[in-house]
Amino acid sequence: MPVIKVKPGQKVKLNQIDADDTGPYKSKKEAKKQLKKNIARMAELQNVLYAEDKHALLIVLQAMDAGGKDGTIRRIMSGVNPQGVRVTSFKKPTPEELAHDFLWRIHKAVPQRGMIGIFNRSHYEDVLVVRVHNLVPPSVWKKRYDHINHFEKLLVDSGVTILKFYLHISKDEQKRRMEARLEQPHKRWKFNPDDLKERELWDDYMEAFETAFERCSTDYAPWYIIPANNKWYRNLVISEIIVDTLEGLNMQYPQPVANLDGIVIE
Ligand code: AMP
Ligand code: MG
Repeated sequence: MPVIKVKPGQKVKLNQIDADDTGPYKSKKEAKKQLKKNIARMAELQNVLYAEDKHALLIVLQAMDAGGKDGTIRRIMSGVNPQGVRVTSFKKPTPEELAHDFLWRIHKAVPQRGMIGIFNRSHYEDVLVVRVHNLVPPSVWKKRYDHINHFEKLLVDSGVTILKFYLHISKDEQKRRMEARLEQPHKRWKFNPDDLKERELWDDYMEAFETAFERCSTDYAPWYIIPANNKWYRNLVISEIIVDTLEGLNMQYPQPVANLDGIVIE
């Protein structure tokens, strides 16, 4: 699948990556069966993850506004047991959060063993929006790439598997989605005039994303760039990577508490 798994230190140019790409698939219809299969498989794997209670899975989602973070979560997680999943959306930090180091609020939300955790935005905002808007001096945000790598290494060494997905949409696609938010009554609540200001800073954001991928895609916590103009392809690819990753953990149901042979329930 022509999805980019960024190699450590790799420089990517986002404007050279086709957000319309759909790999070998030509239509939503063609991909439908596979997506359904992946979602069902994910439910099975999550059940073992929970039962085995040995690993955690952390999924980090980043994208520009209207990039599809919410829709991805809704679709991809539609089959799993809600008890085993926790979604955390990171907004502008509160005064209490700002009074701590930038990873304080993040660390608290990391999934415990047996759980899938999804970050809708993440610690990467602290080298994205923060960098683009000069919310802290460069001397501060520049150190954060190393901090992030060390933090993620700690998590991985503690049994957390990390997948980081950038939902890559084009600027034109963002325009279409923002227009849909203006036009369609059930989407209007999502329209935020502040997003227009962020859109003007598109190029600065792309640069900030590119640095984050170059500095923070590691062999233990890779960044994937997902062509995301087509929602069905985005969902297919992400579900596929999650399934493959969970399969790779070779999880087992735990042994029963005692020898259950011969037990008869009256
Ligand atoms: P939304 O995801 O649309 O609900 O918007 C959340 C907003 O919070 C976005 O504009 C983010 O850029 C912003 N945000 C998230 N994390 C941070 C952060 N660490 N510093 C500043 N703004 C942030
Ligand atoms: Mg928003």
